[in-house]
Amino acid sequence: MNKIKLLDEETINKISAGEVVERPASVVKELVENSIDAGSTSITVEIKKGGKKYIRVTDNGIGIEKNDINIAFLRHSTSKINKAEDLDNITSLGFRGEALSSISAVSQLQLITKTTNSVVGNQVMVMGGKIVENKEVGCPQGTTIIVKNLFYNTPARKKFLKSDSVESSYISDIVNKLALGNPNISFKFIKNNKLIMKTPGNNNRISTIYSIFGKEFANSLFKLDYIGENLKIQGFISKPSYTRGNRNHQYFYINGRIVKSDFLTKTIEKIYKPLIPNNRFPAIILYIDIPPREIDVNVHPTKIEIRFKNKKTLDNVLTSIVEELINKENLIPEVDIDN
Ligand code: ADP
Ligand code: MG
Repeated sequence: MNKIKLLDEETINKISAGEVVERPASVVKELVENSIDAGSTSITVEIKKGGKKYIRVTDNGIGIEKNDINIAFLRHSTSKINKAEDLDNITSLGFRGEALSSISAVSQLQLITKTTNSVVGNQVMVMGGKIVENKEVGCPQGTTIIVKNLFYNTPARKKFLKSDSVESSYISDIVNKLALGNPNISFKFIKNNKLIMKTPGNNNRISTIYSIFGKEFANSLFKLDYIGENLKIQGFISKPSYTRGNRNHQYFYINGRIVKSDFLTKTIEKIYKPLIPNNRFPAIILYIDIPPREIDVNVHPTKIEIRFKNKKTLDNVLTSIVEELINKENLIPEVDIDN
């Protein structure tokens, strides 16, 4: 018998699930991103017990055709790209076709979905990656996915999860980020049967910020609005007089995608450094639109990291618009020259 053999699909899915699904918050991120890609205007996220027992994401997007359901749960199945060249021009949040296969490999998943054209919807149960039930149901247009008992069949993963309240706070953070990035969509977040957060979906960024973080925070911000030839930088930064003790309120969106960027953080913080006390940080909510060919989003399975092909230009433009606004709006705090 050969020593080396190809793993079966179920095992492969369990392994790759480890890359995409680290914790309940990663499930929420993937499901909500699918809802956004489906053109939804309303998305509800409901969780119980830190998302370990129960996660539900309901949207009013385009739904999944009956014939596509089985394929959607296979690895590397996607409706969003066709060939490698498409990677240079991605406008959707998903494209790797890994979320549904990964999540369903390590949970008990229920999908209920209906497209506009279809009279009835479909309900599918998937257990540890295997479709165990598929039937027609009456339901509104859109998609609901319920994920129960995450990591029930991967005990090592399950053990690594934190307390319900810590996992809940990771989920709340990701829902906030997704809601901030998509002010045209009305988000609801329900935790243990209680409505925690709701955004208006009126396409107004500041009213979205207000509904998530409150009035004091919204009032502490000044607005950036730069539209260049191949670069748009918009958003909000806290005035140097209002800083925070950590970087938790720094949000960057590149073409609508949430990214982590030490580079963008540093660019802004170097301007703030002489203006604010040590160990204080500005709040930043920045939306950058840049031609997709100028960035590489396919760096990591979670797509949270991104590469800019031309950092220098971005650094120069961002620095000059932030400096200009701080000077123009007279935001430099007065220093007491006697001390
Ligand atoms: P990806 O998002 O990378 O394409 P996923 O595994 O997340 O891969 O989803 C597989 C496919 O299932 C998607 O390409 C899409 O066609 C379909 N799909 C998933 N979620 C939804 C949803 N909420 N509404 C409509 N279609 C969906
Ligand atoms: Mg996806």
